[in-house]
Amino acid sequence: MDLPTVSELIRTADPQHWRPGDAWLAGGTVLFSYGSDTLQRLLDLTAAGWEPLAMNDDGLEIAATCTIAELYTFPGAVPPRVRQAWPALDLMQPCCDSFVASFKVWNVSTVGGNICTGLPAGPMTSLAAALDGTALVLSPGGTVRRVPVAELVIGDGRTALAPGELLRSITLPATALRARTAFRRLSLTNLGRSGVLLIGRTDEDGSFVLTVTAATKRPVQLRFPSLPDAAGLGAGLAEAIDAGLWHDDVHGLPAWRRDMTYRLAEEIRAELAAPAPAPEDGSL
Ligand SMILES: Cc1cc2nc3c(=O)[nH]c(=O)nc-3n(C[C@H](O)[C@H](O)[C@H](O)COP(=O)(O)OP(=O)(O)OC[C@H]3O[C@@H](n4cnc5c(N)ncnc54)[C@H](O)[C@@H]3O)c2cc1C
Repeated sequence: MDLPTVSELIRTADPQHWRPGDAWLAGGTVLFSYGSDTLQRLLDLTAAGWEPLAMNDDGLEIAATCTIAELYTFPGAVPPRVRQAWPALDLMQPCCDSFVASFKVWNVSTVGGNICTGLPAGPMTSLAAALDGTALVLSPGGTVRRVPVAELVIGDGRTALAPGELLRSITLPATALRARTAFRRLSLTNLGRSGVLLIGRTDEDGSFVLTVTAATKRPVQLRFPSLPDAAGLGAGLAEAIDAGLWHDDVHGLPAWRRDMTYRLAEEIRAELAAPAPAPEDGSL
């Protein structure tokens, strides 16, 4: 698709440069494939120079400009003691694989661009929401706010970002990274977009968090003080997701997404109820 009305490309990551008619440009895989006949300027974030991934004792900060390729290789590059302390890093590769993307999309598209596009099947939204990620958002007026990623995507292609707001980074807290997790994804075709993507998490205090994405128009999270039984989980899903929230597009009918959500949620519950498997030799 074309961008015939764009007349300027400006290298900046300063929200104060934003004005109506501008769009933040990250990997460009959405901007250049959807096209636009109204945008006037693209504000290019790719030269911002933000460190893609920065760890400290409190957690992991992922820059909005971190590419899917960079995120994918990260768990294999951290020291074994970090991999052992933060087992939830194991979610990164299946979430990246959920793109089923081409070489080009894989290498240029960004974590921030995926979340800001707000697709129900956005796997970076799934990952960040499931691990209680917090978005650092900078506004053109100079204010800074932090928003849970689970609340940043509010509908199909809709986010809670105001015009001109810039997603700077996502922080995943160490408490969530220490959790045991279980991942399930379904698509109607082998290389298709996710129709259902669920992630379950049991924290060190025994609490259980289930995050439903792709099946619903926006992320839905269920929190339990301990792992529920099957009936309790089913009742929680029924309470949290009303009929109008199931997503409906060519990647899956609402009834199918609903049935598969209940089925995969129970699989996750059963997996996390069983003792954790011992790490394979040499896997750390
Ligand atoms: C072949 C193909 C397959 C794809 N498969 C999938 C898929 O399976 N699942 C999926 O979710 N998507 C998919 N996409 C869509 C897209 O590639 C991803 O959502 C990608 O992660 C977008 O990132 P980007 O860096 O390219 O975003 P861009 O195109 O640069 O930007 C996307 C939008 O976000 C805004 N934006 C970008 N960064 C920021 C920021 N830091 N702050 C505020 N706003 C920002 C831009 O202004 C724009 O509106 C696919 C695309 C293609 C072409």
